[in-house]
Formats: sequence, C-alpha cells, structure tokens
Amino acid sequence: MDKYNRRKFLLQARNLTYAGATSWLCGCGGAFSSNQGSAKSSPKESEDEQQIIVIGAGIAGIAAAKKLQSQGYRVIILEGRDRIGGRMWTDDSLGVPLDLGAAWIHTVDDNPISPLVKQFGIQTVVSDIQSQWNYKGINQLLNESEEQDISRALRVFKNRVNKLKKAPSSSRQTTLAEIAQQIIESEEITGITLKGFRAALSSAIETEVGDDLANLGVKGFDEDSGFSGADVVFPKGYIQLVQALSKDLDIRTQHLVQQIAYDDTGVQVTTDRGVFSGSRVIVTVPLGVLKRGTLKFSPPLPESKLAAIQQLGMGALNKLVLKFPKQFWASEPHTMAYVNGNNPDRYVEFYNWQKYIQQPILVAIFSGNFSRSLSQMPPTDAVQNIMADLQAMFGKDIPLPTATFLTQWHNDPFAYGSYSTFSLNGSIQDCDRLAEPIGDRVFFAGEATYGKHLGTVHGALLSGEREANRIAKVS
Ligand SMILES: Cc1cc2nc3c(=O)[nH]c(=O)nc-3n(C[C@H](O)[C@H](O)[C@H](O)COP(=O)(O)OP(=O)(O)OC[C@H]3O[C@@H](n4cnc5c(N)ncnc54)[C@H](O)[C@@H]3O)c2cc1C
Repeated sequence: MDKYNRRKFLLQARNLTYAGATSWLCGCGGAFSSNQGSAKSSPKESEDEQQIIVIGAGIAGIAAAKKLQSQGYRVIILEGRDRIGGRMWTDDSLGVPLDLGAAWIHTVDDNPISPLVKQFGIQTVVSDIQSQWNYKGINQLLNESEEQDISRALRVFKNRVNKLKKAPSSSRQTTLAEIAQQIIESEEITGITLKGFRAALSSAIETEVGDDLANLGVKGFDEDSGFSGADVVFPKGYIQLVQALSKDLDIRTQHLVQQIAYDDTGVQVTTDRGVFSGSRVIVTVPLGVLKRGTLKFSPPLPESKLAAIQQLGMGALNKLVLKFPKQFWASEPHTMAYVNGNNPDRYVEFYNWQKYIQQPILVAIFSGNFSRSLSQMPPTDAVQNIMADLQAMFGKDIPLPTATFLTQWHNDPFAYGSYSTFSLNGSIQDCDRLAEPIGDRVFFAGEATYGKHLGTVHGALLSGEREANRIAKVS
C-alpha cells in the first residue's frame, strides 16, 4: 500500500494524525458466496493442452486471465478457496458488506484501479486516513505542542533512515527499530512524546507494512511508490470490482493446486480434483504460500527465485470488526488511536466505518507480533484486549459490541500473511527475480512480484497484466 508514502509519512506529521455473539474466523473461505467460480468436478485430464492455466483467482490472476482471454487465448483459473478475490474479501456476516482484506484504493489519481471502478459504476467514498485523532486519555486528545514534538522526532527518524540508506551497504543492515531507539536516546525523548513517537511510527510504518520495525530494514524503506490524490473505500465492498472483472472467465473454485510440473512441451498442474494440462501457467499464489513450500514445483524453483522468496517478508496485518448497538465516538475523525498505553509493542488503529456505511461499526487494525498474539487468545479475550483501548479513550461505560469479526491472515493457508514486505534486506530487485518466468512455461504474478507497488491491489492488477503481455509476446 505504498506503505511509507501512503500517509506521506512523517513529513506531513503535523497533526499526529500521523499520518493515524463473537465470530473467530480466518480469511479462508468464509461466508462469501460468489456468483463467480464453480467447484464443478474437473476432468481427470483436461482436454485442451493449449490452454493457459492461472493459479489463483485474486486480482492478479483475474487481471491476467481477462487480458489473455480478450486476446483470444483459452484460459482457466484454478482457485483453492471456495470464493474468488483472495485477499480482496468482502464479508456480510455482520449484516453489511465489510472488507476484511483490501479496503482502500490508495491515492486515486493515476491509480489503474480508478478507471475500472468508474467503468463499472462502483460507488466509492473518500476516506481521509491522514485525519486521525490521537487520544491520551478519556476524551482527551494530544495537544498541539505534544503533536509538534512528536512530528519533530519523526522528522529526525526519517532523516536518519535516509542518510543510512545512502551509506555503504554494511550500515544498511540496521533495523528500523534500532534507529528508533537510537533517536529516543540521542534526542532524549520521554513521557508522552515517547509514547506518541512510538505510536506514530507504528501508524506510519507498521500498520502500513503489516510488520514490526524490528523486522524492517533501512534498505526497503520508502522503496515503493504511490500516486497522488485521495484514498477511497467501497461502501458496498471492494469485491464488486473482482466480480465485474471476472465476468465470463472460467474459474474453478475449490481446486487446491498441489504441484506444477513443467518441461519444454507444456505444463501439468495437479490439484485435489484432478490434473490439468496446458501450454503455460501463471502462478499468482501469495508469497506466504511460496514461503511455506506447500505448492511443489517439478523441477524445483531455481535458486535465484528461492533466494528472493526468502529475502522478502510477509506481514501480518489483521482487522477486528466491532459492531456496536450505537455510536459512542465522535463523528468527525476517520481514524482514532489511543497513544498513551504502557505497552510499546502494542498499537491499534480504529477506523470509523460509521462514516462510510452509516452503521455503528469500528474496524480495528493492528499488525506484526501483536496481531499474531491476538489470534492465540480465546476470542472473547482478544475482543476485550482491543476494547481496552476504546475504554481508555471513551470511558468504561461504552457499550459492548453486539457482533465482531477477527481476521487471521497469517494463519490462512491460502495466504500465510497479509502482504509482502521488503523485510530486512529485500529490495525491488527481489520482486523482479520473483517475477522472472521459467523457460517461457511458468510465469509469476501477484503483489509480491510488483515491487514498485508492493502489497497493493493496483500492484497485483498490474502484475497480472504484465504477465499476460509477456505471454502474448512469446506465443
Ligand atoms: C488485511 C489486509 C488489508 C489490505 N488492505 C489493502 C488496501 O486497503 N489497499 C490495497 O491496495 N491493498 C490492500 N491489501 C493488499 C491487497 O489485498 C493484496 O495486495 C492483493 O489483493 C493481492 O492480490 P493477488 O492477486 O496478488 O493475491 P491474492 O488476492 O492472495 O490471490 C491469490 C489467490 O491464490 C489462491 N491460492 C493460494 N494458494 C493456492 C493453491 N495452492 N491452489 C489454488 N489457489 C491458491 C488464493 O486463495 C488467492 O485467491 C490488504 C491486504 C490485507 C490482507
């Protein structure tokens, strides 16, 4: 999500808006019932050996298939889940459509998603994620001078990271957590400024990337880029775009791909419902799945690709949707956070979804190890843990949620994480290596293969189109 850029990071940190009955389900399968895709049993051996097989019905796979099909290729998509969309997942089990994966078009101007949304007449509303309210107590926001102190510390941080980025490669191993600590010590940051500084870093980096500063390095800092303009959300769900794009495509859901075999003559894809033959295959499974090695390749993937898979990281951004009997928070802010907690490893951002769908719903977003630890708690404890922040902001008398939904993208066997990161030493070159085809037979798309827009819907879309173009050139 154009991580560091999305909130124009530190530099626009003026307002320290740095910008800033329970269900327990993971992002796999779920309640979504698609009008696309079918689980029809497949032939043991597909007849069309010239077809192009796409693995994964996320936005990358759908974009690739659509482009190829429009050029006259016969394409089939094999999808392991019982729904399409992958990490674009609109769930309506709380009575309204809610995006549990991607929710925003980040920076709409020149974003390739924008013309598609317009073409299909899909409604969006502006979501001003820069305008966060930061609470230090019950109904008490940080004051202007506190915000300024924090902004100053953020600027020092950014300058330090950029300086190190230009330094010889040995210093590039430094983690962002180490740099933050150095600044805390050298600038003698204490008290509420310290807590606010940590929260600001979490908001601007960890919540964007989905991982902890300790797992992120100088090298990948600010590597990807964004566009300009507002961020927008979809009151009726981002899945509308997936559905519109996938019309007329042959998508076989509930086809778990287990192995891809390839040679000079073609490819054979083994699923739990049979074997499919084709001329070429486009692999769009998430980096997390490639890291786990649950999908086998024969012959195995080349060393350079394995190294790229290892070098890049997979974050753990998760959401807890909280539906309340009534709104008890202010209407104005798009996002809110409690920044005066005592645990430096814990940061939760609340998105005021009431603004977009006129229902008393907050979407809490958190990342990294804290996010992973929440999923190990009993569901009610996890909800209570997050509710503690709301009580610290609005008092103990706030109502309890009537329904909740917690995602666990890091445990989802079709994702094993939220989206890719440059981790400690990864770079755009690793994404490029991941994207390299093998012998004009096996092609790779998906957000992880598009370093310039890593971890985004638009990056994934562009990666699918890129591979469709590549295939059109070689065939
Ligand atoms: C919580 C969260 C919030 C996000 N927020 C945003 C946002 O606001 N804006 C934004 O731009 N991006 C956001 N993203 C990132 C965005 O969702 C992804 O970058 C994008 O959707 C990835 O698309 P993809 O096609 O590359 O991968 P996916 O959507 O993951 O598609 C890959 C498909 O492969 C399938 N698959 C995996 N293994 C197999 C197998 N063995 N056999 C068959 N099929 C398999 C999967 O089920 C999946 O459908 C968010 C992601 C998460 C998780």
